[in-house]
Amino acid sequence: MKYLLVATTWHLLAVGLLLRVGSSAEPLIEVHLQGDHITGTPLHWSAKRVTMLTANGVRRDFSPNMVQRFGRLAGELVASTQQQVWQHLRGEFGTPFSIKATKHYLVVYPADRVDRWSSLLENLYSDFHGFFQSHRHALPRTRFPLVVIVLPNREALLQTAALSGHADPRKIAGYYCDRSNRIWIYAPPSNSRQLPLSDHITLRHEATHQLAFNTGIHERFGTTPRWLAEGLAMFFEMPQQPASLRTRDSQSESALRQTAFLNRGDSPRGRNVPLKLLITDDSLFQQSPELAYAQSASLTRFLIRTHPAGYVGYLKHVATRPRFTFYAARTRQTDFSSCFPGNMARLESQWRAFSNTPR
Ligand SMILES: [Zn+2]
Repeated sequence: MKYLLVATTWHLLAVGLLLRVGSSAEPLIEVHLQGDHITGTPLHWSAKRVTMLTANGVRRDFSPNMVQRFGRLAGELVASTQQQVWQHLRGEFGTPFSIKATKHYLVVYPADRVDRWSSLLENLYSDFHGFFQSHRHALPRTRFPLVVIVLPNREALLQTAALSGHADPRKIAGYYCDRSNRIWIYAPPSNSRQLPLSDHITLRHEATHQLAFNTGIHERFGTTPRWLAEGLAMFFEMPQQPASLRTRDSQSESALRQTAFLNRGDSPRGRNVPLKLLITDDSLFQQSPELAYAQSASLTRFLIRTHPAGYVGYLKHVATRPRFTFYAARTRQTDFSSCFPGNMARLESQWRAFSNTPR
């Protein structure tokens, strides 16, 4: 391999390199950093940050200043096989963990426990694909093996979350990490065959995020409005019945209390967020998370139930926005309005009436 680079001009040279291999959609390169090296395809580069995607589906970000040298390899990025990812996980986690392989998932879990996760994940996979199939939006197979890591206890999860810079890990029961493309959860203390409902809900919630970002429902390297991602995850999180039948408000409200936030304060019941604010401003999830989650779930149910084609069209529209771009509030509002034409105030009043009607 011929190395091509002076580190400080990485991004300019990378652009030139990619122009020369313009016929290749995902050119394969190898980058040597200080104490590390990465093989993958460049997704984005600037003077401040370079982003690459590896064959395991992991996103890597680094400063151009860290690059010592890089060069192009033959061929394009080819996703690792399940066996290759399995071997990587075996080396990473060692004998304290078992690994269960299913059709789409690799589940790493403590070796002293029984596997209670893999069949539930495949159920969710079928549920998710079936829902979109029934709404005339057939989804592709996932490109990378879907990895789920089950840690032995909650303390281990909180440590991992803190190390990966997850915001306020004290509140989480599990999370999907879009950089590693993995779900991180923890095993409940009991070793009964059946997973407790709250753990099952968390699993489905996070697995919905993972599926959405791995099937193109959301663009993994773009900006997805928070209400859209969380509303969809909550729509699928209850396990008892197919998502296409799930519209009762009470179900998702009870689920809400058990999933993303364990330390619950005031109840969101009876409080409303203006539609325009919810769809244009993600900061509500920092300021008033319970309310933001509840209203996102409610709006999602309303739109799927009453405007299913518009909702799916809106998902597609948002997912085709350019990667690595800011999504301004005004554009968010314009995009939303273009998919749900008509008077926004009327749509909002229909939503309120829907959410106040017992079903
Ligand atoms: Zn979520």
